[in-house]
Amino acid sequence: MLEVKDAKMMYGDLVAVDHLTFTIKPGDIFGLLGTNGAGKTTTFRMIMGLLEPTEGEVLYNGEKVGYHNVNQIGYMIEERSLLTKITVKELMLYFGQLKDMEPNVILERLDYWLERFNIVEYKNKKIKELSKGNQQKIQFISAIINNPNLLVLDEPFSGLDPINTELFVEVIRDFQKNGSMVVFSSHQLDHVESFCEEIVVLEKGKAVIEGRIDQVKKDFKKQNIHIVGDVDVEKLKAIPGVFKVIENTNGIIVKIENEDVSKAVFDYVKTCKHITKYDVEQASLSEIFVAKVGHKHEEV
Ligand code: ATP
Repeated sequence: MLEVKDAKMMYGDLVAVDHLTFTIKPGDIFGLLGTNGAGKTTTFRMIMGLLEPTEGEVLYNGEKVGYHNVNQIGYMIEERSLLTKITVKELMLYFGQLKDMEPNVILERLDYWLERFNIVEYKNKKIKELSKGNQQKIQFISAIINNPNLLVLDEPFSGLDPINTELFVEVIRDFQKNGSMVVFSSHQLDHVESFCEEIVVLEKGKAVIEGRIDQVKKDFKKQNIHIVGDVDVEKLKAIPGVFKVIENTNGIIVKIENEDVSKAVFDYVKTCKHITKYDVEQASLSEIFVAKVGHKHEEV
C-alpha cells in the first residue's frame, strides 16, 4: 500500500503541495492530474523519498522509501534525459544493476520488452540514434525491468501517438493484473478517463477533485445532451434548467443543470423532425475541473 498522508512541500515560501492525502492499494491504477506546475512531480519526488515533505509523510508498505526498498519500485521521470551516448543494452544493464539485478536476468527481460514494444532492432543502438517515442519506450522499460510492485510514472503518455499510448496502457494493465500499484501523472484530464478509476486533480498544490471517477461525475450534477437533428436552438435555451446550448459540426450540445432536466429536453425533442441522435452524457473531467477551479487552463 502507498499512503500519502497530509503531505505538504514548500520550496522557500512557495507551497508546491498542500496537505495532500491519498492511498493506493495493490491492483490500483491511480491518476495524479493537474495543470503545469500543479505539484505532480513534487508529489512523485516525495513518494520516491527524493524530497522530504515539509509536513506529513509518505509511506510505502508502512515504511519510507530508501535504499532498502527502492528495488521494488519503478520510476519513470518526466525529463526524457537518458544517457544518450550508450546503447540500449548498456543502459539497461546500468539501471538493472542499480536495482540489484543479475545481468543475465536483465538481458532476458530486456529481450522480452523490446519484442513487446516492437523495437528489437535497437538493442545495440545508441540511445541518441532512437526517435523520441522510442527513447520513451526505453525509459519505460528501464522503469519496469525490475518487475516493480509500485510503478511511478511521470507523464508516461506525453508525446506518444495513439498506437503507442495503447501499447503502454496494455503493459500498465498487465502490472495492475499482477497486483502492482500504479500511479501516473498527466495534464490531459480527459485522456485518462477510461484508464484509471481513482484520481486526484491538483491545482496549485491543492486537491480540487478527488475520488473515484464515476463518483466524481455523479456528484457533479450537470450533464450534456448530444442531439443531431432539426431542433430550434432558441426553444432549447428557453427550457428551465438548460444553461447553455452549443452548436458544432457534430450536432448540438445542450448543457443541463441536472438529470431531471433531460425529461423536459426529451419532451421537446420528440416534437422535432429528423432526429438521428439523442444521447445524455456525463460531464467530462475537464468540464468539472473548469467548473470547480473557475478558469480554463490551456492544457486542461
Ligand atoms: P508539470 O506538469 O509542468 O511538470 P507539475 O505538476 O509536475 O508540473 P511541479 O514540478 O511539482 O509541478 O511544480 C510545482 C510547483 O513547485 C511549481 O510552481 C514549480 O515552479 C515549483 N517548483 C518545482 N520544483 C522546484 C524547485 N526545485 N525549487 C523551487 N520551486 C520548484
